[in-house]
Amino acid sequence: MPELPEVETVVRTLRPRIVGGMIAGVRLERPDILDPIGTDLPGHLRGRVITAVERRGKRIVITLDDCNRFYIHLGMTGRLTVEPINAPLQSHTHLILEVFVGSALADETVPERTTAGSRKIPSAKADPTEISSANSFHVRFRDPRRFGGIWWLGRETSPNDRMGPEPLSLRATQLARQLAKTRRAVKTALLDQTLIAGLGNIYVDESLFAAGVHPLTPANRLTTIQIAALNRAIKHILRKAILHRGSTLRDYRDANGESGGFQLRHKVYDRADQPCRACKAPIQRIVLGGRSTHFCPKCQGR
Ligand SMILES: [Zn+2]
Repeated sequence: MPELPEVETVVRTLRPRIVGGMIAGVRLERPDILDPIGTDLPGHLRGRVITAVERRGKRIVITLDDCNRFYIHLGMTGRLTVEPINAPLQSHTHLILEVFVGSALADETVPERTTAGSRKIPSAKADPTEISSANSFHVRFRDPRRFGGIWWLGRETSPNDRMGPEPLSLRATQLARQLAKTRRAVKTALLDQTLIAGLGNIYVDESLFAAGVHPLTPANRLTTIQIAALNRAIKHILRKAILHRGSTLRDYRDANGESGGFQLRHKVYDRADQPCRACKAPIQRIVLGGRSTHFCPKCQGR
């Protein structure tokens, strides 16, 4: 499942391609992936200019020039990719946005920036009759297992709904406060998006290993030293994973359709029975809350 580094990589590869682009066409193949059901997504999007693409937790939040927002969640198998209009359509493609980038932008290899550093965007009143297919491409959302979807936020609803703080800007005192709220195993607590946003199975296992914390330790029993080590480990692992463009185990691709490379650097995740990279003890795999959990019984003593 795409986690924070994968979603961040999708956002970073998508942003330079679509910000400033006008949505010239919308095809919603599966209205049931939309929340709230019955939202007129094509009506809301057609003719609008995309002004921002950001990540919040595992959500890809897209802002339009009329200040309306929506977000896409990739779920387990979702992909959001930029493709040529004539690329063959794969099965399970649920949403297709035809994005038109004005010729002034399309011809630039380096986006023009104003003195304030903000990206120049074409007029919201771009004339649809001027659209040429040479400057258009598709953004396609494909999700075979349909755990992902599209959430319409409008102008008022916050994309932060019931979501914990971002781990990359988390302070140790904040992490301590969040973990003190629960007696659940620290592994389970860190997967809870209402406590910390964006972490999933891979990066929690890797962070707990890097911090030397056993995954079954009750969250509210961690010492101050363990919390500090865990906070450092989470940031270090996430930053390294973003640098390597995320982990591709099966489905994950960035917006350009490319795989990540961090899976080659996992120390415990998906390495059951293989020797620990630090102490050579075999990595153990247990199932915790229905999720497989990997750890080194020697390096992560209880
Ligand atoms: Zn070890």
